[in-house]
Amino acid sequence: MKILVGGSVAIDNVKTPSANETNLLGGSASYAALAAAKLTTPVHLLGIIGNDFPQEHLEMLAKNGVDLSGLETSDQPSFTWTGEYHENMNERSTHSVAINVLENWQVKVPTDLADAPFIILANMAPVNQLQMLEQCTAAEKFVVADTMDLWINVANEELHQVLKKIDLLVINEGEAREFSGTSQLILAGEKLLEKGPRYIVIKLGEFGALLFGPDHSFFRCGAWPLRELADPTGAGDTFLGGLVGSLAAEGAIQPSFQQLKQAIVKGSILASFTCENFSTKSLESAKKEHFSARLEQFQRISTW
Ligand code: AMP
Repeated sequence: MKILVGGSVAIDNVKTPSANETNLLGGSASYAALAAAKLTTPVHLLGIIGNDFPQEHLEMLAKNGVDLSGLETSDQPSFTWTGEYHENMNERSTHSVAINVLENWQVKVPTDLADAPFIILANMAPVNQLQMLEQCTAAEKFVVADTMDLWINVANEELHQVLKKIDLLVINEGEAREFSGTSQLILAGEKLLEKGPRYIVIKLGEFGALLFGPDHSFFRCGAWPLRELADPTGAGDTFLGGLVGSLAAEGAIQPSFQQLKQAIVKGSILASFTCENFSTKSLESAKKEHFSARLEQFQRISTW
């Protein structure tokens, strides 16, 4: 079943305490699309790149099953994000965000992709998320969105409009506390449900994720116990893509809570690959059997 993924397709420059890598493939939609394509196809990427975008990144995505027919190319430079991780890799500083092509982007959904039943609104301006969603025509669809602190601060009203139109919001822990106005995470999840989505997922980084649903349904999933953390950029976006990829692989447009639980576990396992190397390098090379082996072991260490 078709998945349509919209968001940023970026050039990233990432510094960690041990390395400094430039001209990497980045962007919320790139990670989400690649992750979804690890579990099912077709996956269609919707975004905009500049005339400076490395061809090899596009070739890698296409080779891994991501359809690029919805990717626009502009004459301006690409969206470029430069960030640095510190000794504690949970702390990240953004050094620069060159908006470039994203500044005046008007999302256009090609007509042959508009009927996708699974929609991923990866991190981008809420106004772009709304534009994309307005053009999606499937009578029955499952819509998942991500956001970030920037949009909570500068586009709060549009973000609230997005929340009224989606099925599931994925948000990280700090942003959930900020957006809900409460420091108590369980309460934060419940308050976010009141803003519109049927489900809320709060990401807890190396500690996994929390799922909140109707009638106080709740699930807590851990994260894969990683020893090597090279670059956590895009882990959240990978989680998002894996979650939706899992639902689409089962054709679950109206997923049961059990299907959502499984989707969150699979998203969490895929995110562990992203953290092991820069950009999408580890996710690219992760084979089905690597994923299945982690999934099996994860089940063993998570139940008693
Ligand atoms: P994450 O680590 O999940 O927060 O995602 C990091 C990715 O988000 C990077 O590859 C960036 O290129 C991309 N990114 C950073 N800032 C923004 C923004 N304002 N809008 C869209 N994407 C962004």
